[in-house]
Amino acid sequence: MKKVAYVASECVPFIKTGGLADVVGTLPKIFDRNEYDVRVIMPNYLCIPNKYREKMQYITHFYMDIGYKNDYVGVMYLEYEGVKVYFIDNEYYFNGPTPYGDVKWDIEKFCYFSKAALSILPSIGFQPDIIHCHDWQAGLVPVYLKTLFAGDLFYTSMKSVMTIHNLQFQGKWDIKTIQEYSGLPDYVFTPDKLEVQKDAAMLKGGLVYADKITTVSNTYAKEIQTPYYGEGLDGLLSARWQSLWGIVNGIDYEVWNPATDPQIYKNYSVDNFRELKKINKIELQKECGLPQDENQFVIGIISRLTDQKGLDLVDRIMNDICCDGVQFIVLGTGDVRYENMFRYYQGIHPAKVSANIYYSDERSHKMYAGCDVMLVPSRFEPCGLTQLMALRYGTVPVVRETGGLADTVEAYNQFEGTGTGFSFANYDPYELLNAINYAKEVYYNNKEAWYYIQERGMRQDYSWYNSANIYKDLYNSL
Ligand code: ADP
Repeated sequence: MKKVAYVASECVPFIKTGGLADVVGTLPKIFDRNEYDVRVIMPNYLCIPNKYREKMQYITHFYMDIGYKNDYVGVMYLEYEGVKVYFIDNEYYFNGPTPYGDVKWDIEKFCYFSKAALSILPSIGFQPDIIHCHDWQAGLVPVYLKTLFAGDLFYTSMKSVMTIHNLQFQGKWDIKTIQEYSGLPDYVFTPDKLEVQKDAAMLKGGLVYADKITTVSNTYAKEIQTPYYGEGLDGLLSARWQSLWGIVNGIDYEVWNPATDPQIYKNYSVDNFRELKKINKIELQKECGLPQDENQFVIGIISRLTDQKGLDLVDRIMNDICCDGVQFIVLGTGDVRYENMFRYYQGIHPAKVSANIYYSDERSHKMYAGCDVMLVPSRFEPCGLTQLMALRYGTVPVVRETGGLADTVEAYNQFEGTGTGFSFANYDPYELLNAINYAKEVYYNNKEAWYYIQERGMRQDYSWYNSANIYKDLYNSL
């Protein structure tokens, strides 16, 4: 039996702000329980919904030295869908309406969390073979393991894996502060370890000290070894290329299944989507305040509205996109600039553009079912889940060839009759426009080819099972 502890700041269904939560919440369920004992350690945020909090059991508490302080560490426990989840309890750190807030405060919080995650192991009676750490919030775990905990026999044989879900966020602050909050020794704050241009980055610590590094697609694993995508860590990552694995994310095929999805208007499958998917389109148009017409080419965007997502490209060509026969529905929140941009286009093209500036899981399901194409023109994309959900629902992705988008969407080839979507290479608005126009052309003038693109997409397998097998290889390699 291999024992693995996941250390992460988010996990579905308890708390989610991004794709990280899906990975941490779904992957442990996939492993065969006779071979792998995978448990999760996360913070006990006060903003976790009460329906979960009230079911948690108290396990233990103790006091932990960290930096100049001696902090309370409580451990709460819940078994959810067969997975054992431990919640680090400390109301001083994990109060507040959201998991993250002020950057400096988050740094202090996750220094505490990383040390506490290791410290609770003896008292919960779990001695993992591998500690699998996710993103910068858990970045100090491998550092603690190889420094302050190294002399303790309980920990000496443990290996660690550091997974990068998004390299842009590194938990960076000045060295003195991180040293004070973490209590880590001086010698880790050097340029070959945690230091990045006179500051310290918690994620970098994980990347230096972990036995293996993974990220969430093969292409992103290669991209981050270059200066354009490397966020200042490309030198370190290319030096460690032999320990760096790219493992693409999956999606939960139970939840994301157009044949059974209770949130869409009309269920359909690969056998009957030609007749039934359009019912979802008509209803979606109504709900979004657009004219109901099954022949319209409906383009969707479901995204955090940030620079990463390529929305400045969309801005440049929005007036070209909004021509006859096209409707555009966006669902997202984020930077005010982009929120207002979509409101503006809705104002000038009210019969063509629907701007839904909020977060709604239900609306996202209805859009995956009702749109014809889903745009994901990201500047960079470690993996991306949107295109995987779109494929599953027979909604054709139009993507930029970067990161996981390049690995999961195969460009349509009209001569060979292959491909599951449309793509473009350079970060250029007119390349995006060309890809959209090409898709529109096939949609209107070659329906049969269009149906086959949809069908090939729906037949792809991006469930977790394939990825879980690669994670097993990784764990076994340690
Ligand atoms: P990232 O993690 O960078 O935000 P991903 O593509 O990995 O991007 O994951 C985004 C997930 O969040 C997808 O499941 C997408 O459907 C969902 N999502 C994004 N914005 C919204 C929104 N406003 N409402 C509902 N779901 C959203």
